[in-house]
Amino acid sequence: MSERSYGRVASELRPVEIEPGFVRTATGSALISVGETRVICTASAQESVPRWMNGRGSGWVTAEYGMLPASTGERKQRDVSRGRPDGRTVEIQRLIGRSLRAVIDFEALGERTIYLDCDVLQADGGTRCASITGAYVALSLAVQRLLGEEKLERSPLSGSVAAVSCGIVDGVPLLDLDYSEDSTAEVDANVVMTGDGGLVEVQATAERTPLSRAHLDELLALAAGGIESLRAAQEHTVR
Ligand code: UDP
Repeated sequence: MSERSYGRVASELRPVEIEPGFVRTATGSALISVGETRVICTASAQESVPRWMNGRGSGWVTAEYGMLPASTGERKQRDVSRGRPDGRTVEIQRLIGRSLRAVIDFEALGERTIYLDCDVLQADGGTRCASITGAYVALSLAVQRLLGEEKLERSPLSGSVAAVSCGIVDGVPLLDLDYSEDSTAEVDANVVMTGDGGLVEVQATAERTPLSRAHLDELLALAAGGIESLRAAQEHTVR
């Protein structure tokens, strides 16, 4: 196995940094860096809900994801110029929305929508996971602000949520793949968990060789360790 970035052992995350309040105009925001992967996450509260939810007294949380043209090695055309989002984008933004909705009490949120926008500044693998981890910080900062403004009576957050990738490269289970590892992985997984260790979503794909149950267990154990560190980083930022 070749040397990992940052001289990491198999169970190590890339260096994680979360800068709160990166976008002053948003209700809540954060810039998250996981190694060379960097994503701006914002949470914007809007005092209305989609029409089908009107009059129920409960709110909604939804997400959008995008990659800036220069975030990838070769310039990526903007969706607006192409005229439509690609399948990968749709898949990722739905995953982000589902993940964050797992820790939201819609009644406590009241009749308002929170839009989570995740924009990739620089992509080096794991952008969907960094988006989820950063979106949680943006969302909790937005909640703190709405509580401070007395728009919310109690916090609609039932816990925290974070995500990490893992996979099998040359037969070895590894935590937090960067792009060079991701592109040669036999198995590629994304794991979303709550801060108290509940699984929210597990996506594991065997690209070449089928995944054994033993390896799946190893990947989940690696992910749980990574989520614990991410939870600590989130808590440190939000406090
Ligand atoms: N990538 C890219 N261009 C694209 C899509 C992906 O360069 O249009 C790179 C980028 O580094 C990304 C990685 O491939 O982080 C892995 O992509 P994947 O779809 O697995 O999503 P991610 O790991 O970023 O959640």
